Amino acid sequence: MLSISEIKSLLATPQKIVITTHHKPDGDAMGSSLGLYAYLIQKGHHVHVITPSDYPYFLHWMPNNAEVIIYPDEQERSAKLVAEASMIFCLDFNALGRINELGELVRASDAYKLMIDHHLDPEDFDDYRHWNIGACAAAQLVYDFIVNELQDGALMNKDIASCLYTGIMTDSGSFRFESANAAVYRIAADLIDLGAEHWRIHQLVYDNATENRLRFLGYCLSEKLEVIKEFNAAIISVTKEELKKYNIVTGDTEGIVNYALSINGVKLAAFIIERTDKVKLSLRSTGDFPANEICKKYFNGGGHRNAAGGYSDKNLVDTVTDFKALLPEYKNQLFQ
Ligand code: 5GP
Ligand code: MN
Repeated sequence: MLSISEIKSLLATPQKIVITTHHKPDGDAMGSSLGLYAYLIQKGHHVHVITPSDYPYFLHWMPNNAEVIIYPDEQERSAKLVAEASMIFCLDFNALGRINELGELVRASDAYKLMIDHHLDPEDFDDYRHWNIGACAAAQLVYDFIVNELQDGALMNKDIASCLYTGIMTDSGSFRFESANAAVYRIAADLIDLGAEHWRIHQLVYDNATENRLRFLGYCLSEKLEVIKEFNAAIISVTKEELKKYNIVTGDTEGIVNYALSINGVKLAAFIIERTDKVKLSLRSTGDFPANEICKKYFNGGGHRNAAGGYSDKNLVDTVTDFKALLPEYKNQLFQ
């Protein structure tokens, strides 16, 4: 494992750096990646952000978004950058399976691998780990890495602050989850002092929907929501055809699961969606209920206690049946 002073001395001379983050990057994945990018380019490094897939349009406003390389679009270039990198930062994920084919390229690279993450059960592939499951966002840990570990607070600027604010805002449910403690609010205040326009960022991320998304949301809530009172659970499941009908693109389904969780009494909500290759599940829970345990045990996934995901290779109907069938096992916890 690299010590922080070894990292400081590495970063004292120009490095070839790749920053990567998880499949279907969210606000925290892109916020932490582009925040770290904006910091590292100031220090004169050659830096590339490579994502394993595309990401929502409401994140495309972020500083340096135009520099992001989407792996499926530029595979050869990405492979070369990963192979030639001297340092690879892995942000907001901790198992190489989460970045698809890019994972094996990262594993094979001679670069130092630096993990900055807040998910459970990190896999052992890294040479440095700034990891804390108590952190509300990877962006919070990137802030801590730059300001406290590297003691480079003087290099913080508006671009870095805007990106990190986005990561913290999105992963903390706009500062409402338990993980958004007083320390997080102090970091947010510092980011606003540094120039993050919190009101504008909220608007760019949350008030940027297409008409399709809103109509699709209405359809999900009126036609597709199933409340299972017996288990304090709610499910919304949608087919490929429904996604096509509403012209749904990456990002349009974000947050729909939270509406199911907002029903009085509901402790576990699932959004189950038929993608081209597999069926994807997004679970949300309240209190102590471990949504990540269900994803890990039954759906090849994981995540946080109250926000987790996974997938099934079965069809949509069978996946929904499987999900309903596991509820009795958790009945006591769902009724606590
Ligand atoms: P979402 O429901 O927004 O796709 O994901 C919520 C959280 O669940 C993510 O932040 C991530 O921690 C976790 N997650 C989602 N999908 C997967 C998956 O396929 N595998 C694992 N390990 N975690 C996932
Ligand atoms: Mn995160």
